[in-house]
Amino acid sequence: MKDCLFCKIIAGEIPATKMYEDADMIIIKDIDPKAKNHFLCIPKRHFKLLAEMSEDDAVLVSRCLKKIPTLEKELGLENGYRLVINQGDDAGQTVFHLHIHILSGQKMGWTPA
Ligand code: AMP
Ligand code: ZN
Repeated sequence: MKDCLFCKIIAGEIPATKMYEDADMIIIKDIDPKAKNHFLCIPKRHFKLLAEMSEDDAVLVSRCLKKIPTLEKELGLENGYRLVINQGDDAGQTVFHLHIHILSGQKMGWTPA
C-alpha cells in the first residue's frame, strides 16, 4: 500500500535490519527498542486491524505465530518472550499495517506504561 512504512520496508524501499523473511512475512529489528530484544513480525499483505482481517490474512497471522517460536536462537527467545499486537489509539498503534511485536531478553513487568 502506498504511504505505508511497513509496505515500503517489505518492498525494500526503506532499509531495515532483517532477521527473517519468507513469502508470508518479514521479521525486522524495531528501530526504537522497548526491551533488550525487540523485533517486529510483519505479514506481507497489508491490513490494519484484527477487526479487518480476512480469512486469508488470518492464515498469514497464524503462519507468523507458528514461525516465531522456531527462531528461538535468532530472536533470543530461550528464556521466554512476549508478543504484542497494538490495536488503535489507546494501545498507541502508530503504524497501521498489522504487526506482531516480539519482546525478549529480559524480565518484563505487566503494567501498561
Ligand atoms: P506500533 O506502535 O504498535 O504501531 O508499532 C510500530 C513500531 O514500529 C514501533 O515500535 C516503532 O519503534 C517501529 N518503527 C517505526 N519505524 C521503524 C523503522 N523504520 N524500522 C523499524 N521499526 C520501526
Ligand atoms: Zn502496509
